[in-house]
Amino acid sequence: MWRIIGQDKAVAALQSAFADQRVAHAYMFVGPPNIGKATLARILAQALNCDEAKPPCGECTSCRRIAQGLHADVQIIGREMDGDRARRDIRIHQVREVERTVSLGAYEGRYRVVIVDPAETMNEEAQNAFLKTLEEPPADVVFVLVSTDEHRLLDTIRSRCRRVEFAAMPAKAIASALNERWKASPDQAKLLARLAQGRLGWAINALQDTSLLAERDESFHRMKESLSDGLGERFAYATDLAARFARDRAEVAGLLDLWLEWWRDVLLVQAGCDEEVVNQHLFEDLRQIARACDLASVVRAMEALRAAKQNLTFNANARLALEVLFLELPQLEIREEETRSAVPL
Ligand SMILES: [Zn+2]
Repeated sequence: MWRIIGQDKAVAALQSAFADQRVAHAYMFVGPPNIGKATLARILAQALNCDEAKPPCGECTSCRRIAQGLHADVQIIGREMDGDRARRDIRIHQVREVERTVSLGAYEGRYRVVIVDPAETMNEEAQNAFLKTLEEPPADVVFVLVSTDEHRLLDTIRSRCRRVEFAAMPAKAIASALNERWKASPDQAKLLARLAQGRLGWAINALQDTSLLAERDESFHRMKESLSDGLGERFAYATDLAARFARDRAEVAGLLDLWLEWWRDVLLVQAGCDEEVVNQHLFEDLRQIARACDLASVVRAMEALRAAKQNLTFNANARLALEVLFLELPQLEIREEETRSAVPL
């Protein structure tokens, strides 16, 4: 079954290519994280290897083995683990291993499917090696590059892949999916759909693992705290984040996105657009910051976050980029007891 919620356009593109036997040698699935790219890659692998008359049936041995990650012809290449942490890059020896296995042809199915996720974490060496494989694609192999940041891939790789774009889902559609299929209560569904920003996968994860929401709130708390920190503390935090960035780019990029969302909420509160605020559950905090800053400093904080994100994407010195960010944030005197007394009884 090609069933995947909220990605009708991407599904239709693959379904018709499959029906017309025009499946490409290589695809690039692009879009925000947690919206179904990897799921659809697995469904494509099922369609290509399903034993039944209406592929993908989701139930035959092949379909089930693929869903469980046990099928010998479906390989998922990701960042290797180093202890309990994922390495920063997909490295060349992993690509060499792919080269070797694809040259052998399919083993238990009809097609070999190689899913590279997240593809943009292939380092330069790995990308160059991968390009060679793409230039002379073996028969009966389909590559799917899954990416949230396609601009970090070589143009020559991108031009050899058929691009499939995944869209962010409207909050209403996420809320009803959470409510109907994942049995969330209406309040939970509404809260998570708002926070998910179009990513159904994130909402499902947050529903099943409450620590996700707690970590998110903690990162907002950290931002708020740093506004009353002195320069020394701010720079120490920037150094700490730069070290985290060296280990995991996506984690820090995600954090900057969250902070941007939080500042946008502050701006909305200042403008009196309370209904539009994403983080409704943090409204008192947001109001406190909105009162303590002027409009210009909020705008400057948002611009600084965007600039930091851009600089990190284009390989600027991470520590410097983050230090500049923390210099641009307003300096506020926030006393916690004021927050509490501000809450109506
Ligand atoms: Zn099947």
